[in-house]
Amino acid sequence: MVMEAKMDNYSLETICVQGGYTPGNGEPRQIPIIQSTTFKYDTSEDMGKLFDLEAEGYFYSRLQNPTNDYVAKKICELEGGTAAMLTSSGQAANFFAVFNIAGCGDHVVASSTIYGGTYNLFAVTMKKMGIDFTFVDPNCSEEELNAAFRENTKAMFGETIANPALTVLDIEKFAKVAHAHGVPLIVDNTFATPVNCRPISWGADIVTHSTTKYMDGHAAGIGGCIVDGGTFDWSRYPERYPGLCTPDESYHGITYVEKFGVGGAFITKATAQLMRDFGAVQSPQTAFLLNMGLESLHVRMKKHCENGQAVAEFLNGHEKIAYVNYCGLASDPYHALAQKYLPNGSCGVVSFGVKGGRKAAETFMKHLKLCAIETHVADAKTCCLHPASATHRQMTDEQLAACGVYPDLVRCSCGLENAEDLIADLAQALAHI
Ligand SMILES: *Cc1c(COP(=O)(O)O)cnc(C)c1O
Repeated sequence: MVMEAKMDNYSLETICVQGGYTPGNGEPRQIPIIQSTTFKYDTSEDMGKLFDLEAEGYFYSRLQNPTNDYVAKKICELEGGTAAMLTSSGQAANFFAVFNIAGCGDHVVASSTIYGGTYNLFAVTMKKMGIDFTFVDPNCSEEELNAAFRENTKAMFGETIANPALTVLDIEKFAKVAHAHGVPLIVDNTFATPVNCRPISWGADIVTHSTTKYMDGHAAGIGGCIVDGGTFDWSRYPERYPGLCTPDESYHGITYVEKFGVGGAFITKATAQLMRDFGAVQSPQTAFLLNMGLESLHVRMKKHCENGQAVAEFLNGHEKIAYVNYCGLASDPYHALAQKYLPNGSCGVVSFGVKGGRKAAETFMKHLKLCAIETHVADAKTCCLHPASATHRQMTDEQLAACGVYPDLVRCSCGLENAEDLIADLAQALAHI
């Protein structure tokens, strides 16, 4: 979905509710679910123009679907981008965002504190495809970041707020270094959402989302999204980005930057090539549910952050707690970055260490009543995870320490319940240790 014109200058709250879709006279108020694989035409010529990307329209829902486009347009407006597409999951979004500009023999620089699923996608699966990744400490100096770049580097990648490390990315620093090397910065903005941070306004070029988290917000549908800021001029580096700057023989000889401009080339190529070939589409039903979540995103994020802050402050003063990671705490190492990039709040996810290590953490988890034990995060219902006995259970204490997930670590995703009820549940579970 490429934006036709600059939208009206509405605030984020208004875009959450009304962005992306404006019904005409007598048309449905809610985004219609166009649950159709295909679209009918009167003549072959009409359809031919669509295949040649000469005319706008729909022909097959693997490539484009109106429901998905309305929702992509809303997220595009929220992020301040020029084009966007939905994908079947956050994993598909990050894969497409990188693979759209990097292939066999290429290299990408990524922050080391990214989501485990993304780390695996990059370090194992995309490595098998011949793409090399260098992982850098997000807190390292500009000189150290510069040193990670190579002749064949095609992109830089980081997460606004990393899941689950909760580090805050210095987006301006990363963008400055990426641009000095003539490559775009891709930022996964899942945890912050555009309500709390708009990475494009800080220099990011491409933004990705796992819409599965706060955007959907109700643990109802897996999904992803890619937004192009339209800020990176591919045509300045035709040799680095031949896929965007030379004719695509697999798609009628189209040169994406010529035909769709700086703002439309990236998403059009990702749709015409990657969605065509990999087929990681979001179903229109899921896109509809996602939009229901987006309509209240600005209201919910405020409450998630209030609850996160209240829980972090309670734990921070507690005698049985060894440490708390939450950038809303003045004592947190990421507090200063959070004040710059996340002035209205970060997210509802708090992590902390229980004194007494693995055993104490297990006891704590066993006695939770209101907070459910789940691997999920970022939905309406509060949940907790003890990685050492769940997602990371095959690792020894030494291996856990090496990846920053200590045996005593608990991750708590604060939902939308009453904060005092959440604190009471945590307090009674801690009392059992
Ligand atoms: C969950 C998550 C993903 C993966 O998204 P899925 O929708 O589960 O595929 C990617 N990035 C971040 C930051 C996430 O939290």
